[in-house]
Amino acid sequence: MKIPDKELVKRIIKQKLKECGVIRSQEKLGKIVGNELKEVDSSFSITPERTRRIALEIPDIEIKVKTRKSDVERPEKCPVCDDELKALYAKNLDNKKTEVGFRCEKCSYHGDIEEFMPMRYEFKKTKG
Ligand SMILES: [Zn+2]
Repeated sequence: MKIPDKELVKRIIKQKLKECGVIRSQEKLGKIVGNELKEVDSSFSITPERTRRIALEIPDIEIKVKTRKSDVERPEKCPVCDDELKALYAKNLDNKKTEVGFRCEKCSYHGDIEEFMPMRYEFKKTKG
């Protein structure tokens, strides 16, 4: 098993998104990119998770994150890219500020107080 070079993976992600338009899950993206890598070298191997992390580094790729409810503690850091999360506030009926959610400024991740577990990813090429 060989770990493919990041630049090669980036090129393939861009290429595939150009062909497919939108890819609607991390697993699907990982599979498509994995298959293409095997064409280059049959010993290349990549996980959907690593594919997604590399996709996050490409500026003209848009990633949407769908979230679901969870019982676990809210994340300290962005569960998608590990960056800092920024709290979002709203005023309640008593005019007090309450935290209603949080978002990441680096990627497109945002969650609310109850629904924050990443459930599904959507990848799209934005230009070029
Ligand atoms: Zn993030």
